[in-house]
Amino acid sequence: MKIIKTKNYSKVKKQAEFTTMEIGYEGEKIRVPATWEICDNCRGSGASSDYMGEISDEARHEMMMENTPGGNEFEEYMGGAYDKKCESCDGTGKVLEVYYEKLSPEQREYYDEYSEGQAELAAEDDMRRRGIEF
Ligand SMILES: [Zn+2]
Repeated sequence: MKIIKTKNYSKVKKQAEFTTMEIGYEGEKIRVPATWEICDNCRGSGASSDYMGEISDEARHEMMMENTPGGNEFEEYMGGAYDKKCESCDGTGKVLEVYYEKLSPEQREYYDEYSEGQAELAAEDDMRRRGIEF
């Protein structure tokens, strides 16, 4: 039996699906409005062959010479046979994002402060990695 796997991007539309998510520090998390956004990394397919990098002409030729049940290795690659689960969305094709426009003023304040704090932590981490003491 021949299994044809197709990637159908046209099926994936930007959804206005409504939900909530938790943000904040451990012990003081708050629940805020959130939406599901299509994952940028895999464009919603939930899988990606990016880890393989660019396929060179030589490699492609070799793959085409390699016969497999689905035709040849290159055809299978194009059909997604070598795709791995997308890490950004854990294979779901979508990611949960804070719906900023729907936050209450208090939630916005908390979220802004939290994001700022997270950015500072990331900056400190970065400095530590580069060996800068402060
Ligand atoms: Zn993804």
